[in-house]
Amino acid sequence: MTDTRAVRTRTRGTRVRRPANSLVTDAIHPDAAVPAADPAVLDIAALDSEMNVATELLLRARDVVLVAHIHPDADALGSALALGMGLARRGTPVAVSFAEPLAIPESLRNLPGGHLVVRPDQLPENPDLLVSLDVGSVERLGSLARLLDTCRQSLVIDHHPSNTRFGQFHLVDASAEATVVLVARLLDRLGIPIDRQIADNLYAGLATDTGHFRHADSAAHQLAARLIDAGVRPAEVMFPITESHPFDWLGMLSDVLGGAVLDRDAARGQGLVYTVIDDVTRGGLRPEELDSVIDILRTAQEAAVAAVLKQTDEHSWQVSLRSRDGIDVAAVAGALGGGGHTRAAGFTHHGRPSLAIDALRAVLAG
Ligand code: 5GP
Ligand code: MN
Repeated sequence: MTDTRAVRTRTRGTRVRRPANSLVTDAIHPDAAVPAADPAVLDIAALDSEMNVATELLLRARDVVLVAHIHPDADALGSALALGMGLARRGTPVAVSFAEPLAIPESLRNLPGGHLVVRPDQLPENPDLLVSLDVGSVERLGSLARLLDTCRQSLVIDHHPSNTRFGQFHLVDASAEATVVLVARLLDRLGIPIDRQIADNLYAGLATDTGHFRHADSAAHQLAARLIDAGVRPAEVMFPITESHPFDWLGMLSDVLGGAVLDRDAARGQGLVYTVIDDVTRGGLRPEELDSVIDILRTAQEAAVAAVLKQTDEHSWQVSLRSRDGIDVAAVAGALGGGGHTRAAGFTHHGRPSLAIDALRAVLAG
């Protein structure tokens, strides 16, 4: 880089002034990105350095594979597509992927940049830079975890407090509402304009992860305003993601909500509400329909914790957790082998669903 102008960077409301070319030397060393001891407690200087390292890695990469977590949501895929489209516009060869399922989930197919998505078995095995987005732990990469060993360098961009800091370099900010917030900052650092197509992806991730802006601070609202100014039409972008289900969804909801159980004594008297969606109840419905159930269940006033158990194969269940009133379900899920955020987390259970509930009750009682 020859540009010696000073650039302004904003890190969680703090302005830092530094020369644009003072970031990282040619010999990028992992120590340059050493994290704060507790990833949930962020050191502003460390984060700024992580942002610098991430920027340099992306500027220098000869080709980039961007990977979202298995069964990507709008934050994971929107982050990968937004950054992928931005890098492609700079002339960097990019591919976007995720290990499962083999096609983009139907509700996310309207997001711009879908042409960048490559099946996991057709990705280059030795990318110059592997970037994972919204992936809290290596298991969430599924079969694409193999690329961590075959890529030249890897960068983890994420906002999960439970991030395990797998991979080589990290841009992990647990205070960011969504991974797309970090991608927006990176695009600004890279000097890549946020056009309507990139903005659609960023908006979808931001709206999804903030619970439609209920959990968004003013900076997130300001980012949303900027994205709308770039051309995003919120209702149009969000319609296929959250507002549209097949008719059979209503029957499934009726069964599953009718079968919900309230345990007032659980979570030390703060209450647990849960329900189970097995393969028979699911019928042929999409994952999108199953994922919508937790948002209704969690409105039960008598329970501070909600859980939905979704059958994934004969003996396996994906458990979604939501909480309020200060209960940290990331810690609960972590104790059960999963992870996530304070108010939204999950884990996988192998065995009878009643045993998952027993285990959950035990952790919540602890
Ligand atoms: P959801 O219930 O919407 O599937 O997931 C809520 C949050 O928990 C997301 O941030 C997701 O990344 C995290 N999460 C869900 N399931 C798992 C899991 O099995 N392992 C880990 N590490 N995180 C999970
Ligand atoms: Mn996210």
